[in-house]
Amino acid sequence: MTYPVLKIRTGKIIRNLEKITEKCRKHSISVWGVTKGLSCPLELASRMADTQIAAIADSRMANLQRLKDAGIQKPLALIRIPMPSELPAVVKYADYSVVSEISTINRMRDICLQERKAHNILLMVDMGDLREGFWPSEIEAVADCVSKLPPLLRVAGIGVNFACASGVIPTQEHLQRFVNFGEELERLCGYRLDSFSGGATTQSLLSLDCSFLPERINNLRIGEGYLLGTDSGSQPKEIPWLEQDTMVIEAEVVEVRRKPSKPIGSTGRDAFGNTPVFADRGTRLRAILALGKQDIHIQGLTPLDAGIEIITASSDHLLVDAEAYPGVISTGQILRFRPDYPAMLAASTSMYVAKQYTDD
Ligand SMILES: *Cc1c(COP(=O)(O)O)cnc(C)c1O
Repeated sequence: MTYPVLKIRTGKIIRNLEKITEKCRKHSISVWGVTKGLSCPLELASRMADTQIAAIADSRMANLQRLKDAGIQKPLALIRIPMPSELPAVVKYADYSVVSEISTINRMRDICLQERKAHNILLMVDMGDLREGFWPSEIEAVADCVSKLPPLLRVAGIGVNFACASGVIPTQEHLQRFVNFGEELERLCGYRLDSFSGGATTQSLLSLDCSFLPERINNLRIGEGYLLGTDSGSQPKEIPWLEQDTMVIEAEVVEVRRKPSKPIGSTGRDAFGNTPVFADRGTRLRAILALGKQDIHIQGLTPLDAGIEIITASSDHLLVDAEAYPGVISTGQILRFRPDYPAMLAASTSMYVAKQYTDD
Protein backbone atom coordinates (compact mmCIF):
# COMPACT_ATOMS: atom_id res chain seq x y z
CA MET A 1 0.00 0.00 0.00
CA THR A 2 1.28 3.50 -0.79
CA TYR A 3 0.51 6.31 1.64
CA PRO A 4 -1.24 8.64 2.09
CA VAL A 5 -4.29 6.86 0.73
CA LEU A 6 -7.97 7.73 0.39
CA LYS A 7 -9.91 4.47 0.89
CA ILE A 8 -13.37 4.62 -0.59
CA ARG A 9 -16.12 2.10 0.18
CA THR A 10 -18.16 2.17 -3.01
CA GLY A 11 -20.72 -0.30 -1.57
CA LYS A 12 -21.70 2.09 1.22
CA ILE A 13 -21.80 5.02 -1.16
CA ILE A 14 -24.07 3.16 -3.57
CA ARG A 15 -26.36 2.07 -0.69
CA ASN A 16 -26.63 5.71 0.37
CA LEU A 17 -27.46 6.70 -3.19
CA GLU A 18 -30.13 3.99 -3.45
CA LYS A 19 -31.76 5.13 -0.20
CA ILE A 20 -31.82 8.70 -1.49
CA THR A 21 -33.28 7.82 -4.89
CA GLU A 22 -35.92 5.61 -3.23
CA LYS A 23 -36.97 8.31 -0.78
CA CYS A 24 -37.01 10.94 -3.52
CA ARG A 25 -39.01 8.66 -5.82
CA LYS A 26 -41.77 8.52 -3.19
CA HIS A 27 -41.96 12.31 -3.49
CA SER A 28 -41.83 12.12 -7.33
CA ILE A 29 -38.34 13.63 -7.35
CA SER A 30 -35.58 12.40 -9.66
CA VAL A 31 -31.94 12.52 -8.58
CA TRP A 32 -28.80 13.55 -10.36
CA GLY A 33 -25.82 11.86 -8.70
CA VAL A 34 -23.10 14.50 -8.39
CA THR A 35 -19.59 13.03 -8.55
CA LYS A 36 -17.33 16.08 -8.35
CA GLY A 37 -16.49 15.55 -4.67
CA LEU A 38 -14.48 12.46 -5.62
CA SER A 39 -13.29 13.70 -9.04
CA CYS A 40 -15.72 11.30 -10.72
CA PRO A 41 -13.88 7.96 -10.46
CA LEU A 42 -14.84 5.31 -13.00
CA GLU A 43 -14.90 2.74 -10.18
CA LEU A 44 -17.86 4.58 -8.67
CA ALA A 45 -19.54 5.89 -11.83
CA SER A 46 -19.79 2.40 -13.32
CA ARG A 47 -21.77 1.27 -10.26
CA MET A 48 -23.86 4.45 -10.25
CA ALA A 49 -24.93 3.60 -13.79
CA ASP A 50 -26.88 0.64 -12.35
CA THR A 51 -28.89 2.75 -9.88
CA GLN A 52 -32.14 4.67 -10.38
CA ILE A 53 -30.46 8.09 -10.71
CA ALA A 54 -31.58 10.14 -13.71
CA ALA A 55 -28.06 11.34 -14.58
CA ILE A 56 -24.46 11.37 -13.48
CA ALA A 57 -23.51 15.00 -12.90
CA ASP A 58 -20.07 16.57 -12.62
CA SER A 59 -18.58 20.04 -12.72
CA ARG A 60 -15.72 19.23 -15.09
CA MET A 61 -15.99 18.34 -18.76
CA ALA A 62 -12.81 16.22 -18.54
CA ASN A 63 -14.61 13.93 -16.08
CA LEU A 64 -17.74 13.54 -18.21
CA GLN A 65 -15.65 12.92 -21.30
CA ARG A 66 -13.86 10.13 -19.44
CA LEU A 67 -17.21 8.51 -18.59
CA LYS A 68 -18.46 8.83 -22.14
CA ASP A 69 -15.26 7.28 -23.51
CA ALA A 70 -15.62 4.43 -21.01
CA GLY A 71 -19.11 3.72 -22.35
CA ILE A 72 -21.06 4.55 -19.15
CA GLN A 73 -24.75 4.18 -19.94
CA LYS A 74 -26.41 7.04 -18.06
CA PRO A 75 -27.26 10.55 -19.17
CA LEU A 76 -24.36 12.88 -18.31
CA ALA A 77 -24.88 16.38 -16.93
CA LEU A 78 -22.43 19.25 -16.64
CA ILE A 79 -23.35 21.24 -13.52
CA ARG A 80 -20.87 24.06 -13.74
CA ILE A 81 -21.97 26.78 -16.16
CA PRO A 82 -19.77 26.12 -19.21
CA MET A 83 -16.78 28.06 -20.44
CA PRO A 84 -17.51 29.33 -23.96
CA SER A 85 -14.31 27.57 -25.08
CA GLU A 86 -15.61 24.16 -23.99
CA LEU A 87 -19.07 24.39 -25.59
CA PRO A 88 -18.25 22.07 -28.51
CA ALA A 89 -17.23 19.39 -25.97
CA VAL A 90 -20.33 20.04 -23.86
CA VAL A 91 -22.63 19.47 -26.82
CA LYS A 92 -20.64 16.43 -27.91
CA TYR A 93 -20.28 14.61 -24.58
CA ALA A 94 -22.94 15.88 -22.18
CA ASP A 95 -26.68 15.24 -22.43
CA TYR A 96 -27.52 18.07 -20.05
CA SER A 97 -25.81 21.26 -18.93
CA VAL A 98 -26.72 24.22 -16.76
CA VAL A 99 -26.53 27.72 -18.24
CA SER A 100 -26.99 31.28 -17.03
CA GLU A 101 -25.96 33.48 -19.96
CA ILE A 102 -27.98 34.23 -23.09
CA SER A 103 -24.75 34.57 -25.10
CA THR A 104 -23.81 31.01 -24.05
CA ILE A 105 -27.24 29.66 -25.02
CA ASN A 106 -26.94 31.27 -28.44
CA ARG A 107 -23.46 29.82 -28.98
CA MET A 108 -24.80 26.41 -27.98
CA ARG A 109 -27.69 26.76 -30.41
CA ASP A 110 -25.23 27.37 -33.25
CA ILE A 111 -23.14 24.33 -32.29
CA CYS A 112 -26.21 22.07 -32.01
CA LEU A 113 -27.39 23.16 -35.46
CA GLN A 114 -23.94 22.82 -37.01
CA GLU A 115 -23.29 19.38 -35.51
CA ARG A 116 -26.93 18.24 -35.79
CA LYS A 117 -26.66 17.16 -32.19
CA ALA A 118 -29.41 17.47 -29.59
CA HIS A 119 -28.65 18.91 -26.16
CA ASN A 120 -30.71 19.77 -23.06
CA ILE A 121 -30.21 22.77 -20.81
CA LEU A 122 -31.37 23.78 -17.36
CA LEU A 123 -31.60 27.54 -16.90
CA MET A 124 -30.07 28.42 -13.55
CA VAL A 125 -31.91 31.07 -11.56
CA ASP A 126 -30.32 32.96 -8.66
CA MET A 127 -32.61 33.03 -5.64
CA GLY A 128 -30.14 34.77 -3.35
CA ASP A 129 -27.00 32.65 -2.92
CA LEU A 130 -25.34 34.98 -5.46
CA ARG A 131 -23.40 32.39 -7.37
CA GLU A 132 -24.63 31.46 -10.87
CA GLY A 133 -28.05 32.17 -12.28
CA PHE A 134 -30.33 34.53 -14.15
CA TRP A 135 -31.66 37.29 -11.94
CA PRO A 136 -35.48 37.02 -11.66
CA SER A 137 -36.00 40.44 -13.26
CA GLU A 138 -34.44 39.12 -16.50
CA ILE A 139 -37.37 36.78 -17.11
CA GLU A 140 -38.62 38.51 -20.26
CA ALA A 141 -35.24 38.43 -21.99
CA VAL A 142 -34.91 34.76 -20.99
CA ALA A 143 -38.37 33.93 -22.35
CA ASP A 144 -37.59 35.74 -25.59
CA CYS A 145 -34.36 33.77 -26.05
CA VAL A 146 -35.96 30.44 -25.12
CA SER A 147 -38.94 30.85 -27.48
CA LYS A 148 -36.58 31.23 -30.45
CA LEU A 149 -34.55 28.06 -29.82
CA PRO A 150 -34.63 25.19 -32.32
CA PRO A 151 -35.87 21.76 -31.10
CA LEU A 152 -32.26 20.47 -31.04
CA LEU A 153 -31.49 22.70 -28.05
CA ARG A 154 -34.22 21.86 -25.57
CA VAL A 155 -34.84 23.80 -22.37
CA ALA A 156 -35.46 20.90 -20.01
CA GLY A 157 -36.24 23.16 -17.10
CA ILE A 158 -34.83 25.44 -14.45
CA GLY A 159 -32.39 24.95 -11.60
CA VAL A 160 -31.39 26.76 -8.44
CA ASN A 161 -28.45 26.49 -6.11
CA PHE A 162 -28.10 27.41 -2.45
CA ALA A 163 -25.56 27.11 0.34
CA CYS A 164 -22.57 27.33 -2.00
CA ALA A 165 -21.18 30.79 -2.50
CA SER A 166 -22.90 32.60 0.36
CA GLY A 167 -24.15 29.78 2.55
CA VAL A 168 -27.79 30.79 2.05
CA ILE A 169 -29.99 28.03 3.49
CA PRO A 170 -33.04 27.51 1.29
CA THR A 171 -36.43 28.18 2.85
CA GLN A 172 -39.87 27.32 1.51
CA GLU A 173 -40.21 30.95 0.51
CA HIS A 174 -37.02 30.81 -1.65
CA LEU A 175 -38.28 27.65 -3.33
CA GLN A 176 -41.74 29.06 -3.92
CA ARG A 177 -40.20 32.12 -5.63
CA PHE A 178 -38.18 29.68 -7.76
CA VAL A 179 -41.31 27.76 -8.77
CA ASN A 180 -43.11 31.02 -9.50
CA PHE A 181 -40.27 32.05 -11.81
CA GLY A 182 -40.56 28.76 -13.72
CA GLU A 183 -44.33 28.97 -14.03
CA GLU A 184 -44.13 32.56 -15.24
CA LEU A 185 -41.52 31.48 -17.79
CA GLU A 186 -43.85 28.69 -18.95
CA ARG A 187 -46.62 31.24 -19.39
CA LEU A 188 -44.38 33.62 -21.38
CA CYS A 189 -42.97 30.86 -23.60
CA GLY A 190 -46.20 28.91 -23.97
CA TYR A 191 -44.83 25.49 -23.08
CA ARG A 192 -44.36 23.31 -20.05
CA LEU A 193 -40.94 22.83 -18.46
CA ASP A 194 -40.13 19.26 -17.44
CA SER A 195 -37.62 19.83 -14.66
CA PHE A 196 -37.67 22.04 -11.61
CA SER A 197 -34.31 21.22 -10.08
CA GLY A 198 -34.62 22.57 -6.56
CA GLY A 199 -31.09 22.35 -5.21
CA ALA A 200 -28.38 20.14 -3.78
CA THR A 201 -27.99 18.25 -0.51
CA THR A 202 -28.37 21.16 1.89
CA GLN A 203 -31.76 21.19 3.56
CA SER A 204 -33.37 19.18 0.75
CA LEU A 205 -32.64 15.67 2.00
CA LEU A 206 -33.26 16.37 5.66
CA SER A 207 -36.64 17.90 4.92
CA LEU A 208 -37.97 15.44 2.33
CA ASP A 209 -40.44 13.99 4.81
CA CYS A 210 -41.95 17.25 6.03
CA SER A 211 -43.45 18.50 2.74
CA PHE A 212 -40.89 21.28 2.65
CA LEU A 213 -40.41 21.25 -1.12
CA PRO A 214 -43.14 22.83 -3.26
CA GLU A 215 -44.89 20.21 -5.40
CA ARG A 216 -43.40 21.25 -8.73
CA ILE A 217 -39.87 20.58 -7.56
CA ASN A 218 -39.13 17.24 -9.18
CA ASN A 219 -35.33 17.00 -9.30
CA LEU A 220 -32.42 17.33 -6.87
CA ARG A 221 -28.71 17.28 -7.62
CA ILE A 222 -27.11 15.36 -4.79
CA GLY A 223 -23.40 14.97 -4.00
CA GLU A 224 -22.47 15.29 -0.33
CA GLY A 225 -25.56 13.40 0.84
CA TYR A 226 -24.64 10.05 -0.70
CA LEU A 227 -20.84 10.46 -0.71
CA LEU A 228 -20.55 11.29 3.01
CA GLY A 229 -24.04 10.81 4.46
CA THR A 230 -23.95 14.41 5.70
CA ASP A 231 -25.46 17.85 5.07
CA SER A 232 -22.80 20.33 6.12
CA GLY A 233 -25.34 23.16 6.07
CA SER A 234 -27.20 21.61 9.02
CA GLN A 235 -26.50 20.98 12.68
CA PRO A 236 -25.94 18.13 13.42
CA LYS A 237 -24.76 17.42 9.92
CA GLU A 238 -25.23 13.63 9.91
CA ILE A 239 -28.28 12.53 7.91
CA PRO A 240 -29.67 9.86 10.24
CA TRP A 241 -30.92 7.42 7.58
CA LEU A 242 -27.59 7.39 5.69
CA GLU A 243 -24.17 5.90 6.50
CA GLN A 244 -21.23 8.20 7.25
CA ASP A 245 -18.30 5.77 7.25
CA THR A 246 -17.96 5.76 3.47
CA MET A 247 -14.29 6.71 3.26
CA VAL A 248 -11.12 7.19 5.26
CA ILE A 249 -7.75 8.88 4.75
CA GLU A 250 -4.75 6.92 6.04
CA ALA A 251 -1.32 8.47 6.58
CA GLU A 252 2.02 7.27 7.87
CA VAL A 253 3.88 8.46 10.98
CA VAL A 254 7.37 9.80 10.16
CA GLU A 255 8.45 11.26 13.52
CA VAL A 256 7.45 10.66 17.15
CA ARG A 257 8.93 12.83 19.89
CA ARG A 258 8.10 14.52 23.17
CA LYS A 259 8.24 18.26 22.64
CA PRO A 260 6.89 21.32 24.43
CA SER A 261 3.39 22.31 23.29
CA LYS A 262 4.32 26.00 23.22
CA PRO A 263 6.79 27.19 20.56
CA ILE A 264 10.09 28.59 21.85
CA GLY A 265 10.63 32.23 20.94
CA SER A 266 8.32 34.93 19.62
CA THR A 267 6.07 33.76 16.78
CA GLY A 268 5.21 35.55 13.56
CA ARG A 269 3.20 34.32 10.63
CA ASP A 270 3.39 30.68 9.54
CA ALA A 271 4.06 29.63 5.93
CA PHE A 272 0.41 30.36 5.08
CA GLY A 273 0.24 33.87 6.52
CA ASN A 274 -1.61 32.86 9.68
CA THR A 275 -0.48 33.65 13.21
CA PRO A 276 -1.15 30.43 15.09
CA VAL A 277 -1.63 30.42 18.85
CA PHE A 278 -0.70 27.33 20.86
CA ALA A 279 -1.76 26.74 24.45
CA ASP A 280 0.93 25.69 26.90
CA ARG A 281 0.01 22.13 27.85
CA GLY A 282 3.50 21.18 28.99
CA THR A 283 5.64 18.60 27.27
CA ARG A 284 3.54 16.27 25.13
CA LEU A 285 3.99 13.30 22.84
CA ARG A 286 3.70 14.47 19.25
CA ALA A 287 3.71 12.65 15.93
CA ILE A 288 4.30 13.94 12.42
CA LEU A 289 2.38 12.36 9.55
CA ALA A 290 3.39 12.52 5.90
CA LEU A 291 0.29 14.38 4.76
CA GLY A 292 -0.11 18.11 4.28
CA LYS A 293 -2.10 21.04 3.04
CA GLN A 294 -1.34 19.97 -0.52
CA ASP A 295 -3.43 16.87 0.06
CA ILE A 296 -6.13 17.72 2.54
CA HIS A 297 -8.17 20.39 4.27
CA ILE A 298 -6.87 20.17 7.84
CA GLN A 299 -10.00 21.53 9.55
CA GLY A 300 -12.00 18.87 7.77
CA LEU A 301 -10.24 15.83 9.22
CA THR A 302 -11.60 13.87 12.17
CA PRO A 303 -9.08 11.47 13.74
CA LEU A 304 -10.52 7.96 13.95
CA ASP A 305 -7.84 6.63 16.33
CA ALA A 306 -8.40 7.17 20.05
CA GLY A 307 -6.27 9.81 21.76
CA ILE A 308 -5.15 11.59 18.57
CA GLU A 309 -5.69 15.36 18.27
CA ILE A 310 -4.71 17.46 15.25
CA ILE A 311 -2.35 20.33 16.19
CA THR A 312 -1.59 21.99 12.85
CA ALA A 313 -0.23 21.30 9.39
CA SER A 314 2.08 22.75 6.79
CA SER A 315 2.30 21.88 3.08
CA ASP A 316 3.57 18.36 3.71
CA HIS A 317 3.44 17.66 7.46
CA LEU A 318 0.46 16.99 9.68
CA LEU A 319 1.26 17.39 13.37
CA VAL A 320 -0.81 15.50 15.92
CA ASP A 321 -0.81 15.31 19.70
CA ALA A 322 -0.56 11.64 20.68
CA GLU A 323 -0.24 12.04 24.46
CA ALA A 324 -3.56 10.28 25.07
CA TYR A 325 -2.99 7.54 22.47
CA PRO A 326 -3.50 4.19 24.18
CA GLY A 327 -0.47 2.08 23.38
CA VAL A 328 2.82 2.78 21.69
CA ILE A 329 3.02 5.00 18.67
CA SER A 330 6.02 4.63 16.37
CA THR A 331 7.28 5.60 12.93
CA GLY A 332 5.75 3.64 10.10
CA GLN A 333 2.46 3.37 11.95
CA ILE A 334 -0.72 4.28 10.07
CA LEU A 335 -3.29 6.71 11.50
CA ARG A 336 -6.80 7.12 10.13
CA PHE A 337 -8.97 10.18 9.56
CA ARG A 338 -12.49 10.78 8.28
CA PRO A 339 -12.69 13.64 5.73
CA ASP A 340 -15.50 16.19 5.44
CA TYR A 341 -16.48 17.55 2.01
CA PRO A 342 -13.55 19.98 1.49
CA ALA A 343 -11.07 17.37 2.80
CA MET A 344 -12.52 14.73 0.46
CA LEU A 345 -12.31 17.18 -2.45
CA ALA A 346 -8.66 18.01 -1.69
CA ALA A 347 -7.63 14.38 -1.19
CA SER A 348 -9.36 13.26 -4.36
CA THR A 349 -7.68 15.93 -6.49
CA SER A 350 -4.22 15.56 -4.92
CA MET A 351 -1.96 13.47 -7.14
CA TYR A 352 0.03 12.57 -4.01
CA VAL A 353 -2.88 10.75 -2.37
CA ALA A 354 -3.39 7.18 -3.59
CA LYS A 355 -6.98 6.03 -4.05
CA GLN A 356 -8.30 2.61 -3.17
CA TYR A 357 -11.85 1.49 -3.96
CA THR A 358 -13.43 -1.44 -2.19
CA ASP A 359 -16.83 -3.09 -2.84
CA ASP A 360 -17.98 -3.15 0.80
C1 LIG B 1 -21.81 20.71 -6.31
C2 LIG B 1 -23.15 20.98 -6.87
C3 LIG B 1 -24.24 20.19 -6.49
C4 LIG B 1 -24.14 19.11 -5.45
O1 LIG B 1 -23.96 19.68 -4.18
P1 LIG B 1 -23.93 18.79 -2.84
O2 LIG B 1 -23.93 19.81 -1.77
O3 LIG B 1 -22.67 18.00 -2.88
O4 LIG B 1 -25.13 17.93 -2.83
C5 LIG B 1 -25.46 20.46 -7.09
N1 LIG B 1 -25.60 21.43 -8.02
C6 LIG B 1 -24.57 22.20 -8.41
C7 LIG B 1 -24.82 23.25 -9.45
C8 LIG B 1 -23.32 22.01 -7.84
O5 LIG B 1 -22.31 22.81 -8.23
